[in-house]
Amino acid sequence: MSQENWRRVTSDEFIDFFFEEQGAIYAWSFQYMPVGRGPALDHMVPPDERIEMLRRTQQLVRERKVFYSDFWNSGVASSGCISAGRRGGYFAIDWNGDITPCVFIQYAVDNIYDLYRRGGTITDALQAPLFREIRAWQKEYGYAQEAESVGNWLCPCIVRDHFEVLRDAVRRTGARPLNREAAEALEDPDYVRGMIDYDRELEEKTEPIWTHEYAEQAQEEEARSTSDAAAN
Ligand code: SF4
Repeated sequence: MSQENWRRVTSDEFIDFFFEEQGAIYAWSFQYMPVGRGPALDHMVPPDERIEMLRRTQQLVRERKVFYSDFWNSGVASSGCISAGRRGGYFAIDWNGDITPCVFIQYAVDNIYDLYRRGGTITDALQAPLFREIRAWQKEYGYAQEAESVGNWLCPCIVRDHFEVLRDAVRRTGARPLNREAAEALEDPDYVRGMIDYDRELEEKTEPIWTHEYAEQAQEEEARSTSDAAAN
């Protein structure tokens, strides 16, 4: 979904068509990612609208009772970013055999054909520096943290919501851009500035929601279960 069409895709009319007329069991919607051919930052759902979209997703799940997931507003459901072969997560191999931490992280650490020709295995790719750096970031940001220390999972994506982190990791580890656009994304000052500005605004606007509607509730729940366990 893009800035231009997300309201239509989440409208009652489309939801009725999808779940009732077509009989779909679940919906997994993706927001536009500015990667690949002709990336355009202004197609991204802007931070304010992303919050509106979060509210709409909550309404669809809570009131319409449909199994609807919005990638990335539903990032809490997967405990954040699942790339780089994280436990319970995944990584990607494209049609050329290039191995990347995620289909949207367009930087390869190796190629499956070359890797096996050299006598290596998938395990070697999983131990590549870029994969390790991303997993370390996931753990520190929230995946391996206690409830009170989990970072804002309303901004879960290392590509779109933490571009600076990804850019630093790619440059440090020397991962190979899959295409011209991926190479340019690291250097183009307009792209870099646009992504970083987007991420800062998103963080600023979602932080109060994260703190009051997610983090504090998780802590209260944890405290309740600890005191229940002590009472038993
Ligand atoms: S990098 Fe972004 S798109 Fe890929 S798994 Fe992580 S959160 Fe999802």
